[in-house]
Amino acid sequence: METSAGASVVLDHVTHRHPGGDIPVTALDDVSVTFGHGTFTAVMGPSGSGKTTLLQCAAGLERPATGRVLVAGHDLARLSERRRTLLRRDRIGFVFQSFNLLPSLTAAQNVALPLRLAGRRPDAVLVRQGLAAVGLADRAGHRPSQLSGGQQQRVALARALVTRPAVLFADEPTGALDASTSREILRLMRTLVDRYAQTLVMVTHDPLAAACADRVLFLADGRLSGEITDPTPDTVTARMLHLEAAC
Ligand code: ADP
Ligand code: MG
Repeated sequence: METSAGASVVLDHVTHRHPGGDIPVTALDDVSVTFGHGTFTAVMGPSGSGKTTLLQCAAGLERPATGRVLVAGHDLARLSERRRTLLRRDRIGFVFQSFNLLPSLTAAQNVALPLRLAGRRPDAVLVRQGLAAVGLADRAGHRPSQLSGGQQQRVALARALVTRPAVLFADEPTGALDASTSREILRLMRTLVDRYAQTLVMVTHDPLAAACADRVLFLADGRLSGEITDPTPDTVTARMLHLEAAC
């Protein structure tokens, strides 16, 4: 069992199978990993290696077949359905490649949404601070269609962070962005970790993106196949080439 002291998220011997077809697919196979408070981890691996499933299990969106997941010290399997829903809503943030903003709402209304869903009166100051933290103080009244891709991803980040989650999961957050916009988003995510001690776990295919993290985990066929601390684009690329050659 891994220690959970100082950890935001712990996966302890997690195995997960997706039902489907004649043979269930083992998407995660005995994965144990700890994401420490205030750390930035990148997750890499070939397509289908289990990266999204790892995030979904860690975020309580999928229930593992075996093993345990702890978020902010809570064993997800031991919580009632209601407590698990509340933990997901209040302590876990998620951003996606496709931004997933509501098109009819302004940037400010999108950021306020998690507070509304929690039955809280959206605090205008909190929403303004959230938009300011991602550099969009002057875009509060814009709808997603009036914003660039990079600006939409910034709104999605502000929305994911408005509840001050224990951990932010990002599944290929720069996958739909051009190179220079990706760099801006990565700089912003690095700042969230360095300035606010945000715990961040990001799936990416891009060695330049992975090199922004403190640590890179490599997945192959649902198993952890190694990690690099203090990564550089070169060390990440070399490891990816090695993994793909082995497939
Ligand atoms: P990655 O994000 O690394 O591309 P995934 O976690 O999405 O990988 O998928 C891991 C494996 O699980 C793949 O073989 C994929 O086909 C399978 N899989 C993922 N989601 C489902 C699902 N909802 N139903 C059935 N199989 C799935
Ligand atoms: Mg995926």
